[in-house]
Order: sequence, then structure tokens, then C-alpha cells
Amino acid sequence: MFDSLQDGLKGAFKSLRGKGKMTESNMRDGLKMVEQSLLDADVSIDVVKSFMASVTEKALGEKVLLALDPSEQVVGIVNEQLIELLGPVDEQLTFHKDVNIIMMCGLQGSGKTTTCGKLAKLLQQQKIEPLLVAADLQRPAAIDQLHVIGDSLGVPVYSEKGEQDPVKVCRNAVAKAKAENRKVVILDTAGRLAIDEELMEQLKTIDRDVQPDQVMLVVDGMTGQDAVRSAGAFHEALELNGVIMTKLDGDARGGALLSVKHVTGVPIRFIGTGEHLDNLEVFRPEGMASRILGMGDMLALVDEANKLVDEQEQIRMQEALEKGQFTLNDFRSHMQKMAKPGLMQKMMGLMPGMPSMGDISKMMNQADTANQMKRMVGVIDSMTPAERVDPSVIDVRRKQRIAQGAGVEVKTISELLKNFGMMKNVMTGMAGMGATEKMQEMQKLQAGAMNPNGMPKMKKSTGKRLTPKELKKRKKEREKQLKEMRKKKRSGGS
Ligand code: GDP
Repeated sequence: MFDSLQDGLKGAFKSLRGKGKMTESNMRDGLKMVEQSLLDADVSIDVVKSFMASVTEKALGEKVLLALDPSEQVVGIVNEQLIELLGPVDEQLTFHKDVNIIMMCGLQGSGKTTTCGKLAKLLQQQKIEPLLVAADLQRPAAIDQLHVIGDSLGVPVYSEKGEQDPVKVCRNAVAKAKAENRKVVILDTAGRLAIDEELMEQLKTIDRDVQPDQVMLVVDGMTGQDAVRSAGAFHEALELNGVIMTKLDGDARGGALLSVKHVTGVPIRFIGTGEHLDNLEVFRPEGMASRILGMGDMLALVDEANKLVDEQEQIRMQEALEKGQFTLNDFRSHMQKMAKPGLMQKMMGLMPGMPSMGDISKMMNQADTANQMKRMVGVIDSMTPAERVDPSVIDVRRKQRIAQGAGVEVKTISELLKNFGMMKNVMTGMAGMGATEKMQEMQKLQAGAMNPNGMPKMKKSTGKRLTPKELKKRKKEREKQLKEMRKKKRSGGS
């Protein structure tokens, strides 16, 4: 996601690192690079100006220039400003009424119908059974498309074949939802290739007549500032509650994502990160800022992991892990679920301290990774039930037998057992903590990644530390620098 923006910012922070002394002019050069990365990512000029004004004011403060680690301070400032730019956002959709209506709008091709399905799936995961409504009567295939999506999820779809009036369809659907005690109705309204009067009038009529609780606009994140402009136009007509930005898994540069809230006042609520119905994420400004800065997003990673196992399985796992039990059967089950092309890469992209998605994709071939996981499952299948539960019994002879059975080399078995051991340590270690403690640990991991070279701080301890003498010298230098700056200011210099 946003590889070139990530790389641009990384370059800017790198340029600020390793300077013996940070001067105002060095800092300005680094900030110019930050500005250029935002412009290259197609962020709106107004947004860049106001963003850079805040960042510059803070970064040129004495506290930053004289800090031991100015570049890390700048990363912190940019992080804070990004969070401010993107938020605040209500992360939860709340449903206070008996029937709550979500009206989905968007231009044709933005991903509106697919997103209706994704949202329905997300609600299903929260134990809410929605009703999908095919009110896009403009695009001939839209009704069938929504039925296919609904069928695949087991969610009912309301449609009236042959009906020309979408308002009537929406009204009847809401009545049906009331009769069937369905808490949420999702209206898939018509899209056009471009914003026009007729489309807006139709949407306004539905809005007036059905009075939705939430009006969401689906925009294609790949269309850059066009997405921002269309959000502005829809908001003027309909008072949007939120934007859902799709296709952020593709070549989107990030400009639309960073501009839409500032330009239109409408926050992003969800993001689409793939064609599959699982690929909808709740938008969290903190997580997104962190991802843009190459520091991963632990909460999104947990969400992704939770999608892989159902609630009952999660409870069973949790109980077993708390007792320190994690067997090769559990490991196998994880591998099997991860053996979807692209999933491993996506999850790695959310981990703190990982390279950008582009680099990960270059390093790991999607199909290869999925095949490797399948191979691991095959190896575990060649083990006896007793070996899977207690791998400590696997000695050299057993390794040879398993390797022969699975058609791999003995060293593959050793590697698998090593990976299993590491995973068991992490899983059982985390399970022993309470929810708050776990969260704190994750935040620590995330905060640990607050390092411009993209690696978690905790792992950086191998680097050379300054001796007390060197620290004293560095402090003296900075004090001298500070004096000079003050003198310059008093004499009116820049
Ligand atoms: P609509 O005309 O707005 O209803 O758009 P559709 O829901 O038919 O989607 C248009 C195309 O975009 C389809 O091929 C979808 O699979 C694709 N699409 C939707 N959301 C995403 C997304 O988040 N990522 C990617 N890569 N494709 C998406």
C-alpha cells in the first residue's frame, strides 16, 4: 500500500539521520523531501501546505533541533500530523434503532456493490444479519451481482425485477426488514459514470424518503483527486457520514486517502484492500499513519488473524494456549489457512518493522509462499498423531521417516520444527497475558517501530551506544548551537 509514498518518506527521514549536527537548514532540506513525497503521492496542494506548515513549525523548534535523535522526533511529528489529518473517526457503526439503514452511494465501477457485500460480511461477523437491497436499477447486471454476493454469504437480498422506481424498492425493503426483525438494511443505490443531476436527484429522493441512518460514499482510491472531488459533490447533495475508499491494494498513491477528510470534512470509515469479500478494513487513523510510515499496524494484523478462525475456534485456542498447549495440529491449521496467495504478504505488510509491501512482494512470490505453506501441511500430515501432539519425540530416525514420507529433505523437517517452536513461544507467551497487558505489549511493539529506518527500536539495541563522555560532548555542542541560534534570532537573521 502506497509504496512510493512510504519510500519517499523513508528517504526523507534517512536524509535527516546521521548528521553530526542538525541545523535549521538541514532540517528544512529534509522537510522539503517530506513535502515532495506528499506531492508525488498526489496529495491535494492545500493539504500539503497546511500539513507542512504544522510539521515545519514543530520540527524547527529548539527541542527537536537539539534532541539527540532529531530524525526520530520528526517521524513522531509527521505521525502525529498524519493522525490529525485522517481523524477523528468513529470506528464502530452503532445501531440504536430496530431497523438501521445504511445507504451506499458511489460512481459506477467504484466498487459499491462489492463493498455492500463486504460490509454485510463484516456485520455477519458481529452476529448481525443484514438485508441487502438491490436498488441500483441503472446497471443491468447490478441486481444479479448483488444476488450472487448475497448467496455466497448466506445473506438475503431484496430486489424487484422489472421495477423502475428505486425509491419504491427501498421503501418495500425497509418494510420487509421491519417485519423480519432485521437490524440493518444496506441499500445498493445506482451509480453513473460521472456525477450528474439525475443521479443526484434520485439519491436525494431516496435519502428524503427512506431517511437512512448512515450515508456512505464508496470511492475508488486509485482515481486520486477525482475521488476527492466526487466526495465533495456527493457530500454537498447528501451530507455523507463517511467515505469507504476501495482498491487501496492496487497502485493507489495515497493522495486521495490523505486529502479527503481535509478537503471535504468527511472521514474515511472503511478501506477496501482487495476484491474478496473479506477485504474490508475498519479505518483507524493511527494504524494508517503507522502503515504510511512503514511501521505496520498491529491492530489491523490482529483483525486479519481473527478473520481466519471462527469465534468458537478462537475460544478453544485461547484456552489451550493459556495452558501452554500449542501442537503441530494447531500449527498445521494455521498454515492451511494462510496458504491463500497473497495473504502471507498482506499480513507481513502489517507487521512493525517490515519492508514496504512492494519490497515484500519482490522478495516473496505469492504462489511460492502459498505452495510452501501447503508443503509444510504435507510434512505434518506425514507425522503420527503422537508426534503432532508432542514433537519432542521426533528424533533423527523419525525425521528421516517423515522426510521420506513427505518427499522432502531432512533439513526441511528441522526447519519446520524450529519455526513451530518459535511460534509456540510467541503464542503461549501472549496468551498468558491479560487483554490490557496484551494491548500494551502490542502498542510497545508498534511504538518500538517508531524508528525512521523502519526497524523496531527494541531490535536496534545491537547498535553502538554513545559513552557518557560522548553524550556530554554532544550536549555541549548542542548548547553552543542553541546559543548561536538565539543570537541570530535577536539580530534578526533567519
Ligand atoms: P460498482 O459498479 O461500484 O458497483 O462496482 P463493483 O462492485 O462492480 O466493482 C467494480 C470492480 O472493482 C470489480 O471488479 C470489483 O471486484 C473491484 N473491486 C471492488 N473493490 C475492490 C478493492 O478494494 N480492491 C480491488 N483490487 N478491486 C476491487
